[in-house]
Amino acid sequence: MRPADVIRAKRDGETLPAAAIRSFVGGIARGEVADYQASAFLMAVFLNGMDAVETSALACAMRDSGDVMDWADGAPVVDKHSTGGVGDKVSLALAPVAAVCGLRVPMISGRGLGHTGGTLDKLAAIPGFSSDLEPGRFRGIVDELGFAMAGQGDRLAPADRTLYALRDVTATVECRPLIVSSILSKKAAEGLEGLVLDVKCGGGAFQDLDGGRSLAADLVATAQQMGMRCAAWLTDMDRPLGLAVGNAPETAEALACLGGHGPGDLREVVVALAGEMLRLGGLADDEAAARSAAADALDSGAAAERFAAMVEVQGGDPAAVGDPALLAAPDARVEVRSGALGTVAAVDARGLGKVCLAIGAGRARAEDEIDPAAGLVMAALPGDEVVEGDLLCTLQGAGDLESHVDAARACFSIPGPGATVEPRRLLIERVGD
Ligand code: URA
Repeated sequence: MRPADVIRAKRDGETLPAAAIRSFVGGIARGEVADYQASAFLMAVFLNGMDAVETSALACAMRDSGDVMDWADGAPVVDKHSTGGVGDKVSLALAPVAAVCGLRVPMISGRGLGHTGGTLDKLAAIPGFSSDLEPGRFRGIVDELGFAMAGQGDRLAPADRTLYALRDVTATVECRPLIVSSILSKKAAEGLEGLVLDVKCGGGAFQDLDGGRSLAADLVATAQQMGMRCAAWLTDMDRPLGLAVGNAPETAEALACLGGHGPGDLREVVVALAGEMLRLGGLADDEAAARSAAADALDSGAAAERFAAMVEVQGGDPAAVGDPALLAAPDARVEVRSGALGTVAAVDARGLGKVCLAIGAGRARAEDEIDPAAGLVMAALPGDEVVEGDLLCTLQGAGDLESHVDAARACFSIPGPGATVEPRRLLIERVGD
């Protein structure tokens, strides 16, 4: 089918044959389909949807639009994808834990956009670290150390790169088959046997619990059709994960977790997802044993050591792994103190994400520069009793931090003494095999 016929068929609500999707997507990657045609296609999909078979065909075609990693025999190849949240530094600790436990983790990550951060921006807080690896080098590091962390580059799912950029400017971002195919095309191009999804649900995420359940079900079903073993965990994002939000603060917190310390919620998610990765990779049948192996990797120092080795081969300063003072340092810090007495009833994760964006930790537009030192660290959490003047959080970065203090304070809801706080369900439920 010619590109115009593919667009017309989708415009008219028809189901597209896999071959038509493949030739259209191949045409995008070869530069034969114009941006205006790709944009029209995106809008037709947005308006008329795609069924599960079309979605999987789109994901496979985008995967095959570039290089697909192909691994020699050896340890199972498993990765994790998060749908994005505030304070989500899980990848930094999870990848080395999974590697120590016997998996290969070719972790391709993204930069942050909007109120959520990106793994590559957190890694940029480590002096000298490079996430720009030539594919052969990336594979070599994964084979040697069990994991590597890099950006998408030009050769991995290039059709997704084009379509993702066009979605941003054609009001077609929020479209389930486009989201599912985009995420899975990149993960499948890593040549994975197994994929664990961390589907964040709540105010700081892109979906509530019902939306998260349905997104997880679609992602798991499509990943399985594409030949990957896949399971998802729905995890809480009604408040940030851990205490740190932003780049250097989150990196420091992930390093604490790797050293067997740090906030309990972060550790719990890392251990649960690592256990799930081991199960999908066929290295564990028993969930309790898998989680215990993951916890041992943290407590023994083995995961921290492995992370330091990865940092060193990727050009970074391994000493920063044991000494957070060596991470990117902010020009200034400003304390945010409570103006009221009472119980912290809730913390607005999305609001804190927006504060971090405003102080330079994130990007409003894809081309914006970020400050790797910027972010915040919370000192008060839901359930804590505070009095006027108590510390709620500390902002760090450059520029006029003072002008963001009120916005940060407003993220801590303190209705008065004795407010009831709903117990948190961190690991909400599992979806998949
Ligand atoms: N949403 C998408 O559409 N693609 C991604 O890669 C991530 C989120």
